Amino acid sequence: MALKWRKVALRIAQAAGPQKWTHLPFAQSPALDFQCSISAEKVKSIFSLPAPRKPDSSAPAGHRARLPLQISAGALLLLAALLFGMGACARRGDPPPDPLAPHRAAMKDAYRGDVDLAAAAPRYQISITLPPPANVLTGTARIDLTNNSSDPWSHLVFRLYPMLDQYRGRMTLLSALINDSPTNFVYQTQSTAVRVNMPRALLPGQTATVELSWKLTIPKWSDDSATYALFGASQEMISLPLFYPALAVYEPGPAIGTGNWWLETGSVRGDAAFNQASLFVVTATLPSDQAPVATGTRIITHDVGEGLTQHIWATGPVREFLLHMSPRFESASTEAYGTRVTSYWLPGDESAGRAALAYAVAALRFYSDYFGSYPARDMAVAPAALSYRGMEYPQVSLLGVQLYSRYRADLETLVAHEAAHHWWFQIVHNDPVREPWLDEALAEYAMRLYFEAVYGEERAAAVEQQRWRVPLSLLAERNADVNVNRPVDAFESGSQYETIIYAKGALFYAQLRESLGDREFRDFLRSYLGRYRYQIVSTEDWLEELRSLDRPELLTLYREWVQPPTARPVIEPTPAEAPETQAIAP
Ligand SMILES: [Zn+2]
Repeated sequence: MALKWRKVALRIAQAAGPQKWTHLPFAQSPALDFQCSISAEKVKSIFSLPAPRKPDSSAPAGHRARLPLQISAGALLLLAALLFGMGACARRGDPPPDPLAPHRAAMKDAYRGDVDLAAAAPRYQISITLPPPANVLTGTARIDLTNNSSDPWSHLVFRLYPMLDQYRGRMTLLSALINDSPTNFVYQTQSTAVRVNMPRALLPGQTATVELSWKLTIPKWSDDSATYALFGASQEMISLPLFYPALAVYEPGPAIGTGNWWLETGSVRGDAAFNQASLFVVTATLPSDQAPVATGTRIITHDVGEGLTQHIWATGPVREFLLHMSPRFESASTEAYGTRVTSYWLPGDESAGRAALAYAVAALRFYSDYFGSYPARDMAVAPAALSYRGMEYPQVSLLGVQLYSRYRADLETLVAHEAAHHWWFQIVHNDPVREPWLDEALAEYAMRLYFEAVYGEERAAAVEQQRWRVPLSLLAERNADVNVNRPVDAFESGSQYETIIYAKGALFYAQLRESLGDREFRDFLRSYLGRYRYQIVSTEDWLEELRSLDRPELLTLYREWVQPPTARPVIEPTPAEAPETQAIAP
């Protein structure tokens, strides 16, 4: 059914009774029938939640009727797991509470162990408030981190991505503490990063706790449906990727002590954010009319009065945390392979929104079968101010509003491309500025695999011709065909970047598959996914995987198509009646 989110608030406190929140989850879970003396005050202290209020019997019946959709047994168990994991209560003689329990709860049962792969990853506990009119956000974050490098760290670097030229936010750091002591900080790289000095060097293997507070002014963009805005407000939607200071990636150097913090700023042409897999618990207090779409699994939604609602999400290992919202979103959900897939749409776009849900479900199933299971409990697709393009975020694909109307014919292509990024970007990650081909070419080729599986070879071949071969031929005619592996800023234009990275990159994968055969090609990708799960790969890592196949002709193929300097491949002749070229998704 369609669920219209306007003014929907989940009142767990009301359902749980005014005093003891935990009566509800534990009473409903016979497996957890131990005594727990946690009080509402303790819950508040964990999540900064206000005291529960008395039930509002005047709430419209329509709102109350929707509550069972959200106060599911699963959500209550998640809350129980969260509290247990936070050490809130324990049965005598039990093993110590699992500090990673809230994060495991965001994963499908069979993939709860994935959280251990990120046990030494940064752990963010973020709390933000965005009161009406939702244009200034204030936030605090506690980040527990480990120096996983071989170098001592005299300082840390956090990226302030909203300060990127293409994002146009205004982000000001208000305070910084390291291990409970105030420390100084310095902005750098056009204020897109802040260097936080350590009182003493953090040695390899040592841990630190950083507490930061900040203020963020959210940009307002045109409400024209052609607007392309990765960050900010447009068309009654607010997109907030990376609204918090994000620990920069530390890249090792050739010798100990020569590593560097990653400080690239990217461009509007490609993706700009580069992050190691991290664990998040995010508490957001938002205007009650906003329907939020976010990374992770939402475990609590709670009306806190004065027109505000508080939401809490937990995640497994993810590259970043996206918050996106609109007071106008309607939605529908379905379950596929143990994951709840939710599609959001704006009023008037229901048929396209429901089609997007079907495409996302089909993509989830196909890629899970082909690459390996999708490990998280939730996945979402939603419209955003991205014109006819799409953008991938962990567990969420944002799709341009025009894909729901004017460019409806491209919706499935974009859903299939962005869904593939849940494997190639989210699970296996790479530097999106210096080596964008690693995830984009593969996500694009995955889209062909999807069409092949769902509609057959003829349709897939048509997509390949229209989307890759024709644009690449046109580029070759202009002598602008170059090899694939190059940084985003090495391309002369946006169209050259898109044609080379996406079209030619995907055609390289087609060649690879033809050389290897279907089965070995699939095994190659499955092995690559398994070896680099939640890690960051370089082209050299990718090549190492290729070399392990012991097929020298594949390395020749790589040299001819991918490796700079340029070696122009043979382009198939352009058909006399070529279909129009299409723009390709970022
Ligand atoms: Zn992409």
